[in-house]
Amino acid sequence: MKRYQEKIAAQLLRFKRSGFTYFGHGIAESIKDPYIEQLHLLKDDFIEIIHFWKRMKVDFISINELLELSKKGFKRDKPWVHFTFDDGYRNNLKVLLPIMEQYQIPFTVFISSGLIEERLRMPSFIIRTALIHSKGNQLINGVQLADYDSRSVRIKLADDLIKRYKYLPYQESNILLEQIRNLLPANEWRELQDKYINDQLLCLDELAVLSKNKLVTIGAHGSKHIILHKDQKDAIIRKELEASLKYVNKDCITHAYPNGTMRDYSEGTIQIARELGVNLSFTTNEKIIGNGENSLFLPRYFLSGTGSGILKDWLFKVF
Ligand SMILES: [Zn+2]
Repeated sequence: MKRYQEKIAAQLLRFKRSGFTYFGHGIAESIKDPYIEQLHLLKDDFIEIIHFWKRMKVDFISINELLELSKKGFKRDKPWVHFTFDDGYRNNLKVLLPIMEQYQIPFTVFISSGLIEERLRMPSFIIRTALIHSKGNQLINGVQLADYDSRSVRIKLADDLIKRYKYLPYQESNILLEQIRNLLPANEWRELQDKYINDQLLCLDELAVLSKNKLVTIGAHGSKHIILHKDQKDAIIRKELEASLKYVNKDCITHAYPNGTMRDYSEGTIQIARELGVNLSFTTNEKIIGNGENSLFLPRYFLSGTGSGILKDWLFKVF
C-alpha cells in the first residue's frame, strides 16, 4: 500500500467503530528451515506490522479492554488491534516480549499447558521434522516414504499426515504420532531439537516470568493441543478445555481453540467453555470484530505480511 493510500485509509479508519485480533505463534530472530519453522514470523517483519498499524493510528488494546468492549457489543470510538500468540513458544519471552515492552503493546499468549509441563513439542513440529529428516524407506500409516524422495515430496507427505493426524480421535492420533516420532532415533531428535530452537516451548519457570509481566495475559489453548473436532469424546474435550485454565489470568478468562477453524469447535464445546467460566474464546476464522460479535467464538487474523491486506479487507467490508 502506498503512503498516500495509507493516509486516506487512516482517515477512514478514524470513523470506524470496530477492530480485530491477530493470531501469531512465534517471533524469531532467525529461521533455519522455513518449512519446519513455518509458525514463526521474523522479528523485523513483525516490527513492520506494528509500524503499519501505528501509522494507521489504531489503539493496541489489552485483553481486559477487549473484555470491557465485549460488554458493550464491541463498539468503540477508535479502531483497535489486539495481538495474540498461540501454543506458548519460548521466543514469546525471549524475542517478542522485548519488542512489546519497547512499544508498550499488551498481548495474550495462549498456552498448551500439558506440552509445557511435560517439556514436549507441538505434534505438527514432530511430523514436519521427522518427514524432512528421516532416512531409508519407511511406511507410515499407509504412506510410503522413500530415501530418494525430494524435499517437495516430503513436504507434501508431511502436510497430508498433519491433516490426517488432526482429525483422528485422540488415541489413534497418539499412535500415529509415536510411529512418526520413531522415524528418527533419540540422539537425532536431541540434535534437531537444539537446531530448531524456535519450536521450543516455554518451560514452567519461563511461563511464570512471562505471566508476571503487566503487558502479558496468559490464556488457555488446551493441554496437549488436541483438536476438538466432532469425533473427539466429550471427556477428552472437557479435559482439554479445563487443563490449561489453571494458568490463566483470572481477571479475564480466555481460551483459543487449537487449529480454530469451524471444524474445530461446536455448540457442545462452546457450552463446556461457558460452563468453565471462559469470558472470551477465539477461533482462527479471519474477520473483523464488529457490533454484536459472540464472545465465545471471536475471529482472528493470521499474523503475516505487512497488515495492509487486512486493511483492504476491513475497508471493503465496512463501506
Ligand atoms: Zn495452536
